[in-house]
Amino acid sequence: MIIIFRFLLAIFILLTVIYASSPLFWQYFESKINKIEGRVPYKVSKDALDFHSTLFVTDLHGDPLFSYRNLLRHNSTGHMDIPRLIEGNISLQVFGVPTQIPLFANLERNQSRIGLAGFLAFALHWPLNTWYSGKNRALYLAEKLHELEAKSEGTLSIIKTSGQLEEYSQRSITETHRTAGLLMLEGAHVIKRIPEDLEELYHRGFRIIGLTHLTDNHLGGSAHGIEKGGLTELGRKAVQRMEELHMIIDLTHASSELMDDVLAMTSRPVLVSHTGVKGCVDNSRNLSDEQLKAVASKGGLIGIGFWEEAVGLQGVESIADSIQYASQLVGVKHIALGSDFDGGVTIPFDASDMVHITDALIKQGFSQEEIRMIMGGNALNFLMNGLPENVLPRRKIPNDEMIHPE
Ligand SMILES: [Zn+2]
Repeated sequence: MIIIFRFLLAIFILLTVIYASSPLFWQYFESKINKIEGRVPYKVSKDALDFHSTLFVTDLHGDPLFSYRNLLRHNSTGHMDIPRLIEGNISLQVFGVPTQIPLFANLERNQSRIGLAGFLAFALHWPLNTWYSGKNRALYLAEKLHELEAKSEGTLSIIKTSGQLEEYSQRSITETHRTAGLLMLEGAHVIKRIPEDLEELYHRGFRIIGLTHLTDNHLGGSAHGIEKGGLTELGRKAVQRMEELHMIIDLTHASSELMDDVLAMTSRPVLVSHTGVKGCVDNSRNLSDEQLKAVASKGGLIGIGFWEEAVGLQGVESIADSIQYASQLVGVKHIALGSDFDGGVTIPFDASDMVHITDALIKQGFSQEEIRMIMGGNALNFLMNGLPENVLPRRKIPNDEMIHPE
């Protein structure tokens, strides 16, 4: 009995220490998980710098919302914040919202039972209701981005419709000291009731939904799950409703079966926002040639990642090699950037140095027009067609439309 009491007391003291020392704890934690390391050319050419400043740059995936940092300030840890996005001339950033992080997360096989996200929510001082609910974490992070927008003095705008995006992209030609954000849910395990939960996320600003993250869920299988299955019946209903709402489906982290099932049933192009290609780095995280072709054949867009597991060890050159490989296989117009900044990965530079990609693509021999497309033009076109024209009004959902998982 005394041993149990001492054990519980020790856990209580440990949790209190973590909670009380969060800023220091996080600074240390972030310096270990979101590193900047690798081979970056010392200097980029003046031509690359000048050309980069004329681009509409889009990054299809970053996870800075899951952080203790004040994203309105220029930070020395992590990969991005609003000032660094503007410095790197990133006009549009997709903000990923992961809500479940399995203990001992790996590429091959993750159980969904024990997760770290609730503990991290506690350690990050998020509200109590985020400690035990993935959906509450998603809603909290969406609210956090909206708060950032409100406090940003006009430097950050959240995009929810194609009209807003068009207006923003026109303005960004002359107003360069601004950036924009788009909300993406990374893993639809928090969508339990269809269509109610999905529509709630839509009205809180989410426009891109990644069906799975690191584990299988009740909608379908993850590339890193146990079963790695296809789309479930509930998953089909969810995909159908996402299409009606003009929400974009993201197949990053999807199992092969899930990818096949979704591509067979969707009428709208899909996104794979942050990935690598098996042709350059062969692992379960990356897309095969057949998968790249299947996504492209339906008008889809593929964001090439910046970190080692996606593209390999050679830093910026590796990123450019994967972009080259995918472009040659399926055509430049299907290729974009999906950095995974702040996604618990090591990247050779931070958001402020995005010009390194432009420089590396010039060295790879891409034309200026091709670079303009890859750096953000393709993503802009894709999102202009994929986002809703207008935000649909909230509606009361009739009971017979509701589906609950078993
Ligand atoms: Zn991811």
